[in-house]
Amino acid sequence: MASDFVIVYHRQPYEEVVVDGKTELRENSSPNGIVPTLKSFFGKADHGAWVAWKLAEDPANPTFERVIEIEDAHGSYTVSRLPLTAEQVSSFYHISSKEAFWPILHSFKEKYNYDPVDWPTFREVNWAFAEAAANEASTGARVWVHDYNLWLVPGYLRQLRPDVVISFFHHTPFPAADMFNVLPWRKEIVESLLACDVVGFHIPRYSANFLSVASSMFDVTAQERRPVDPDLIFEGTALSERRAPTLIAYDGREISISSSPVGVAVDFIEERANDPKVQAKAQEIIKAMDGAKLVISVGRTDYTKGGIQQLQSFERILEARPDLRGKVRLMHVSVSANRNMTAYEDIQSGIEETAGRINGRFGTLGWQPITLISRAIPFDDLIQYYLAADVAWITPLADGMNLVCKEYVAARTDDDGVLVLSEFAGAAVELGAAVITNPFSSRSMDSAILQALEMEPEERRERMRALRRMVKRFSVSAWMADQETEFTAALARKPEASEAQ
Ligand code: UDP
Repeated sequence: MASDFVIVYHRQPYEEVVVDGKTELRENSSPNGIVPTLKSFFGKADHGAWVAWKLAEDPANPTFERVIEIEDAHGSYTVSRLPLTAEQVSSFYHISSKEAFWPILHSFKEKYNYDPVDWPTFREVNWAFAEAAANEASTGARVWVHDYNLWLVPGYLRQLRPDVVISFFHHTPFPAADMFNVLPWRKEIVESLLACDVVGFHIPRYSANFLSVASSMFDVTAQERRPVDPDLIFEGTALSERRAPTLIAYDGREISISSSPVGVAVDFIEERANDPKVQAKAQEIIKAMDGAKLVISVGRTDYTKGGIQQLQSFERILEARPDLRGKVRLMHVSVSANRNMTAYEDIQSGIEETAGRINGRFGTLGWQPITLISRAIPFDDLIQYYLAADVAWITPLADGMNLVCKEYVAARTDDDGVLVLSEFAGAAVELGAAVITNPFSSRSMDSAILQALEMEPEERRERMRALRRMVKRFSVSAWMADQETEFTAALARKPEASEAQ
C-alpha cells in the first residue's frame, strides 16, 4: 500500500528480540527517544512507511521479508527493510559516517579519517534507501529523511520522484564552511541537500552555517532571514545567533531552512517523576549518599562528550578543596555505543584510567569519589537518579542538542537541583538559566561545578523554574508541531503535491 508519509531513518522502528530462537518485533518500551517520537507522526498520515536497514548475509536473497506491515500503538504502517551486508554497514555507517563525517560535524578536524572511506559504497547504500522510499511513497507524499548518514538520499529521491515533498532533519551540529569544506565530497552532499523542500536543524546557528556552506559552492540566495525567537538567544552562550535564514532559493526552487530544537516528552517524564515508587527509590538513593552531594553525568562514550575533561575537573576540585572530600560523589555514566571502533575504545580506556586514578588518589574505605557506569541505564532508573542528584553536570565539547540535560530539568518537578551545562551543547541557547560553562577552560569548568555545589536553595529554585519554562516551551510536541508546519508550507509551495494529498 502506498504511503503518504515516509520516514527514512537508518534504525528499525522497533526492537528485535530473539525468544526461543524466534525473532519478535517489540515496540520500544519507553515513549522517550527519537524512534517513538518519529513514529507518532504516523498518526497524522493516512498510511505511513518507514525505511531502515537490516543485516543480511546475501542482500540479493535475504532470509527475511523485505517489506512488512506492522501494527502497534501507532496504528498500521509499512516497514521497508533494506538488506545490507555487514561490510556495507561498516563502510557506510561506521567508517564514512562515524570516522569522516562525525568529527567534521563536531569540529574535530584532528579526528577526521579520510583514508578508509569507500565513497562508492556510501553512494550505493544511500541510493538503496532512496529507491526504497520511492517505492513506498504515494504521489505527492511527504518524505522525511534523517541524519547525515543519509545525506545523499534527497538528491537521489528527487531524481526518482520529482513529485514528493522532501524534508531532511540534522540531529547533529552543522559547522560553517571553514570546517565543513574539509569533506572532499562536500559538493555532492550539499547539492543533494539542496534538492530538499525543507532542511531542518536544531538551532539557528546551524542553519546559518548551512547557508555559509551552500553559498561557498553554489549560487544560493537567502530569500528570507528572520530575527531569532528571543527565547533562543542567550548572551552567555557561544552558539547564540540573532538572525537566521528561513528561506533560500537555488536553481529556480525555494527551500525552507528550519531551526527547531528537539525537546523531550515533558508530560511523560513528569508523570514518571511523580510516581510514588520512583520517588521512593530516589529517596533511597539520597539516604545511601549519607549526607554527601550527588553529581550526575550521563552521556555516550564519545570524544565529543568531554568525559575525560570533566573527570579531570573533578580531580582538580578534590585536590584544591580538601573540605569536599567525603562530601560529594560523582556518578559518571558513559555508555559505549560503538564497541568495535578504536576512537571510542581509546576514550573508554581514558575514562576508566582517569576515574580509577581519582578513586585511588582520594577514595577511602567509606567513600569512593566516582562511580563509573559503562552500561546503559534503563530510562525509568535514570529518572530516579535525576531526582536524587543535587547537580547534573553536562559538559560536552560539542553536541547537536543534548537531551539528557532537558530530561533532568523535566524530571525536577520539585523545582530543585542545579544544571551545569556546556555552552557548546545546542540546548544551551534555550537553557541560559543553567550554570553555563566552557569545557575548553579548566578555570570555567572548576568554578561552574563549585558554584553549583555551593548554590543557595533560593537561587537553585529560581534557576530551575526558569529552565523548566524553557523545557516545556521547547518540548518534543513543540518540535513536532514545527516540523508539521514546515511540511504544510512546503506542500503549499508545490500545488501538484498538495492536490495529490
Ligand atoms: N540514555 C539512557 N540511559 C543511559 C544513558 C543515556 O536511557 O544510560 C538516554 C538518555 O536518557 C537520552 C539519550 O540516551 O534520552 C541520549 O540523548 P542525548 O541527546 O543526550 O545524546 P546522544 O547520545 O543522542 O548524543
